[in-house]
Amino acid sequence: MQIEIVTIGSEILSGRTLDTNFAFLARALEQASVQIGWHTTVGDTPERIAEAVRRGLERADALVLTGGLGPTPDDLTRRAVSNVLSRPLQLDEQVLEHIRERAARLGRKLPGSIEAQALLPLGAEAWLNRLGTAPGILILHHGKPVILLPGVPQELEELATEYVVPYLRQRTGRHVETFTLRTSGVFESALHEKIGALPQAWPGATLAYLPSFFGVDLRVTATGTDPDQVRRVTGRAYDELREKVDAVIYAEGTTTMQQVVGETLVELGYTLATAESCTGGLLAKRITDVPGASRYFERGFVTYSNASKIELLGVRAGDLEAHGAVSAPVAEQMAAGACERAGADVGVGITGVAGPEGGSEEKPVGTVFVAVASPRGAAVRRLHIVGTRATIRERSAQTALDLVRRQLRGLPLEPSLEG
Ligand code: ATP
Ligand code: MG
Repeated sequence: MQIEIVTIGSEILSGRTLDTNFAFLARALEQASVQIGWHTTVGDTPERIAEAVRRGLERADALVLTGGLGPTPDDLTRRAVSNVLSRPLQLDEQVLEHIRERAARLGRKLPGSIEAQALLPLGAEAWLNRLGTAPGILILHHGKPVILLPGVPQELEELATEYVVPYLRQRTGRHVETFTLRTSGVFESALHEKIGALPQAWPGATLAYLPSFFGVDLRVTATGTDPDQVRRVTGRAYDELREKVDAVIYAEGTTTMQQVVGETLVELGYTLATAESCTGGLLAKRITDVPGASRYFERGFVTYSNASKIELLGVRAGDLEAHGAVSAPVAEQMAAGACERAGADVGVGITGVAGPEGGSEEKPVGTVFVAVASPRGAAVRRLHIVGTRATIRERSAQTALDLVRRQLRGLPLEPSLEG
């Protein structure tokens, strides 16, 4: 089934609003085993909306439109679609009731215009919106689904997940299973080499390599008409992938490295302190992104200058002089100093050259030292990260967290696919 997604809004065409609704829909619809054949964006004019619907119906098996379902005069989607499909708008009592109930619950007085949201093209079905007033709308037009969704991202996401994906999945009659294994510390090419042609032996399944700052995610998607067969293939793919690359997997699904580290600290009953130079607090920020981080995160030091490294962490002036601020001994002393000064069990230190200036022949831009001090031992690693300042900082934080994870779990400290 080939789908066309139409996002509606002059603010998207102007480049001021990023089309995140498209990105969400495209990813969500993968779960329904449909292909996205086209993506169109049009401004808020009835002619353009009508044209997009007409063209979409010629080439696609189903249309999903988002935006312009609100109550204001610039929200034209409902009327434009009604016109182009020759399906006059009719008041839907159930939707009206939902809108009134919602207003009463929130203690709001309804502007008269809001009732326009209870108007549906003839023959349409409404998908009630828990987060707003405009429902999702399904029209089966000469056998092709035309789906209208509100533009507000949270509302769109909820309706897409709750209704659109299950509806299209049921129409395609296909079963889909996916899983994601998250790896860190090795290049995509190394994973490729290790995994090789393995996926060719998984009928109906594909493997995607998804690289980011945080590592490479391996995502398997299996589809088929027989749910048992799809589950069998997925299970086999999971076992075989695990066997090949287990040494560099840190999490599954959307679990982050900072969550994994947090869980490990809770499990062991340890507290953590950070000492950061080139990441300027990014590591502490990521650790505290996790709700409940107060259970284990004691404090973070941002020590950018040599003086602050000496004063706040007790780094030895002689070592700064002899080895430079970007060096293994300084990273080690930062980790140990954070631990000691904070009275925490585990300390982690990061010092490096984030660039674009400040590199030298001996320590080019991207040279970073990450260190950990813990009751299970201390360790330091030298990294060479290629990329922009942002890349270098993000990767440094990720690798530092991975080093903590590896040290605390008694794993090899260097990620490797050998052996
Ligand atoms: P409302 O009832 O709020 O008017 P609506 O269905 O009419 O909702 P729009 O008016 O098109 O939707 O957009 C509402 C909000 O959602 C705006 O802030 C808009 O910037 C945002 N939005 C709309 N379309 C997209 C999109 N494709 N990607 C990201 N954000 C979007
Ligand atoms: Mg609007």
